[in-house]
Order: sequence, then C-alpha cells, then structure tokens
Amino acid sequence: MTEDDTYVIKGPPPLKEIPSSSLGKIIYEKLSTEFENEAAFIDAITGKFITYKDFFTKTCSLAISLRKLGCGQNSIVSICSENCNEFFIPVVAALYVGAVIAPINHNYTQLEMIHALNISQPSLVFCSKEVLDKYLELKKKVDYIQRIIVINSNTSIKGVECMNNFINCVQKGCILSSSLVADVNPREQVALIMCSSGTTGLPKGVMLTHENILTTFVHTDDPRFFNQDSGRCTLGVLPFFHSYGMVRSLNSLQKRIQIIVMRKFEEEVFLKSIEKYKITSLSLVPPLAIFLSKSLLVDKYDLSSVIEATSGAAPLSKNIEELLSVRLKIKSVQQAYGLTETTIRVMGMPSGEQRFGSSGKLCPYVSCKVRDPETGKSLGPNQIGELCFKGPLIMKGYYNNEEANKNTFTGNGWLLTGDLGYYDDEEYFYIVDRLKELIKYKGFQVPPAELEALLLTHPGIKDSGVVGLPDEDVGELPLAFVAKHLNVNLTEDEVKQFVAERVSSHKRLRGGVIFIPEIPKNPSGKILRRKLRELITTHKSKL
Ligand code: AMP
Repeated sequence: MTEDDTYVIKGPPPLKEIPSSSLGKIIYEKLSTEFENEAAFIDAITGKFITYKDFFTKTCSLAISLRKLGCGQNSIVSICSENCNEFFIPVVAALYVGAVIAPINHNYTQLEMIHALNISQPSLVFCSKEVLDKYLELKKKVDYIQRIIVINSNTSIKGVECMNNFINCVQKGCILSSSLVADVNPREQVALIMCSSGTTGLPKGVMLTHENILTTFVHTDDPRFFNQDSGRCTLGVLPFFHSYGMVRSLNSLQKRIQIIVMRKFEEEVFLKSIEKYKITSLSLVPPLAIFLSKSLLVDKYDLSSVIEATSGAAPLSKNIEELLSVRLKIKSVQQAYGLTETTIRVMGMPSGEQRFGSSGKLCPYVSCKVRDPETGKSLGPNQIGELCFKGPLIMKGYYNNEEANKNTFTGNGWLLTGDLGYYDDEEYFYIVDRLKELIKYKGFQVPPAELEALLLTHPGIKDSGVVGLPDEDVGELPLAFVAKHLNVNLTEDEVKQFVAERVSSHKRLRGGVIFIPEIPKNPSGKILRRKLRELITTHKSKL
C-alpha cells in the first residue's frame, strides 16, 4: 500500500548546515582549540572537577590505547556507570576512533543487563566501581566480554584495571593528532546504541548515527529554539545512559558549558547546585518539574538565576507547567517532545513563546505527519493520529532487528512513534495519548512485554497483561493483571515481591496486581490493553 503523504508539515528552514565531518572530529576540534583550566565536569557533592584540558588529554590518550587494543571503526564498547565526572571520557575516545558506544542503565538487575548487553555484545566494557561486582559476575555468564575497565578509580580493583592505568600504558599525556581521528561517514556511521523498547516488545538497540547527533548540535545553536545566553553551567542530573542525558551532555560539552554532575537525584543537592552554580536553564523530566513546583524545600534556596525550564521524556500537565512558572517566577516553562528513536527532541517551544500544554513546533530538518492508525491516511490540523517523523534526527534503525525495523518504519521511511497527537492551525503540537505499549514511570521506560514475560515464569501464573496506572506525580505506575492457574493460592504481595526481586526499581508493580480469570486478547493473541485499562476503572469502583 502506498503511503498517503497529503499532509506533511516541516520545521522552519535551517539556519546552518549539518556538518559533514564525523562527530569525533567535531568534538576534537571544539576541545582542542583553547586549553583552559576551567572545569568541564564538576561533581555536585564533592566539588571535584576535571578540566577541559585534562578531559581532552585523557580522551586522546584513551583513544590511542583503544587503537592499540585493536578497537577501531565499528568496534562496540559499552559503558555502564552512574553519572560521574569520568563518564564521557570513554564515550568521546570511542567517537575519536569511530567505535560504537552502547550505554547500559547501571540500575539494571543482572537479568536486565544480560538482555541489554546481548543486543550489542560489546567486547570491551567501561564501568564504574559501583557496578564492578555485577560485571565480574556477568563476565562469567556471557562469552563476548573480553575486558573490563573501571573508569572512576585510580587503582585496579579486584584484579580489574582502572582507566588511568590503561591510559598510562601508552605515553602519558600523549595527544592524538587530529588526522588520526577517524573520518567516518556521519550519515552511515553509528555512534551510539541506546536501549528502547519502541512501540512493542522487549528493549532493543537504537542505532544513532554521527549525523543524528550533529543535527542536535545545529539545533542547540539555533536561537529560534535555544536561548543562546543560557549560561556557562548546566546540571547533569538526567541519567547519562538515556538519550536525553547523553545527547544534552554531548551538546554542553561541545559548547563548553560546564556540567555539574549529579550521581542521582537528591532534592537538596539539586536545589543547592542550582543556587551555587547559578543555573539559568533547567532540563527537566516531569517528576523534577513536579518537585520544583510543589516542594516546600524550594523556598529554602535562591533559585532566581533560573530563567527557563524545559521538560521532556514524558507528558507534563498544563497545571504543573503553570505552577512551575509561578513558583520559579519565570515566563519560560516549556515542554519538548522526542524519543530515543528520534535522538532527542523533534519539537520544542520556540524561544520566548509560551503555550501551556503544547510541546511546541517542529525543529528544523524535521518532517512530521499525523497518521490515522486505522486507515493510514495523513491527517490535517486538529485531527488526532499517530505522530510519524522523517529527517536526519531519526535513528538508523534497531540493531540486528529487521523485524522491529519493518514494524517501526512505513514503506516510505516514516518512523512510527506510537504516540497520539495533533497540531493546531498554527502548527503547535499537542501529545494526547500513547498508542504503544510503553509505560513511563518518572520518565523511565517500563516495557510491559518484559514484565509479562517475567510473570509467566512464575509457576502459579497462567497469563498476564501489564498496563500503566495514571499517576500525577510519576506519570504511570506499572500494574499487572494476572490470571492464576487453577487452585493456586497467590496474593498480590507475593506477585509484587516476585517481580521486585528480579527487575530494577522503576519497573516494580507499584500500581498493584489485579487477579482476573483470563487476559482479554484479540483473535491473533494480542493483549487488549485498552480493555485492561477499562478494567482498572471497574476494579477501583468496586473497592
Ligand atoms: P524515550 O525513548 O525513553 O525518551 O521515551 C519516548 C516517549 O516518551 C515518547 O514516545 C512519548 O511517549 C514520551 N514523551 C516524550 N516527551 C513527551 C512529551 N513532551 N509529552 C508527552 N509524552 C512524551
């Protein structure tokens, strides 16, 4: 069937071209031009920092060491660490040599990590000392990990070498000549393999190319969408393993905006850092926006430096946007929308504009069509349909997963997001619902298929279906419908406990467990999630 492209809307004409050079070369050039002793990364708690000069030297020396190890174009290296000052050293070094980086959520349980690692099968893993034990165990279970390097220790631990030693094997402080930075084709060359479950199923490997990320550099330089006086510091509070935190930080790094690194979100550290470093621009996810708009702690700190706040990764209610604007006494509270599969935002509120409830307008280089999920027809203004995108921000595809690629792209290349939305007569977008299975808890992905597969491994469970229970503070709480085998005694707490012992915290069944005789399915066996959502209402009204 040919796609109907009658209604396609595009972002404004770009102000700059996307660089045709590799991401490694661009970052190398930005970092090598001036040697300042200014801090590039500062730990929010300890105040320890790493200067641009140190960062640049270390990335160069590490790139040389990687080369010596035989790590070059298309080699896959993984990084698994909480946010820390050293996180981006292996990331940038890998980009210099043209290798592909696969970041892994450090909070994953061993089972989750194995699934995530199996996607990209890295031979080299950089990890923090905090997750080293997990990796020592993992190394025994998978055959592809050849070497582990600890990034945030000055000495080897448990027989595992640290990054400094690995670097020092080559000449200390050795500078990689720019001509040695891999000159890859930015359109084709994959830079990152990120984890996302997409519209259905288990987590998959999203291939983001050098060009995908370079397009975000062009966007952050565009004054129509990004305030160009947004200060010299930013808070690195969003997890670096997620595309929002990863891509924002790469942008800050190349713009020489200092990153105040938060290992995890802690209320007082967060507020203290905004005050101390006079943060002007906040990149938030809805739970952080809710915290700022409601917590009494906020009054203890001087947050008057903040001039703008942008929330992404999940829907933020209009009400919270308004509260936040009043609380921070700022006009500019905005939402941006994007997916791991679109690198980062594909739309955002133009600078100086404010429309609560809207995720703004399309960014340059982005084409969008709103597609009727039933008929496949493209829809005009004010009509709700599935948002589909094209352009240089769209992922190359899922790594080694042709089946998922077939289902995620239309025949003529539109990325199907699984999100429902519309644009108004002035082309402002509104995201209204999710067509896809995905649950988002505090902005983190919870793929229902993963929990359903896990529940099926319980001997007392015949079938299950997992959906999100809407929650104002965290977005959605994972809730499981469970059909038990005959004559099995199983309580809600036992099911919750079973899951909690096997998954990372954000995937726990905080929404509860509802026992039903059968999971409603369509004739081809697909879970009828809408039906399950309706059942929540019936169930709650009976309580
Ligand atoms: P992720 O790939 O983890 O970034 O998740 C992407 C998903 O988050 C999207 O497909 C949406 O369902 C949701 N999302 C991101 N930004 C927004 C937004 N501004 N409004 C509503 N949902 C959003």
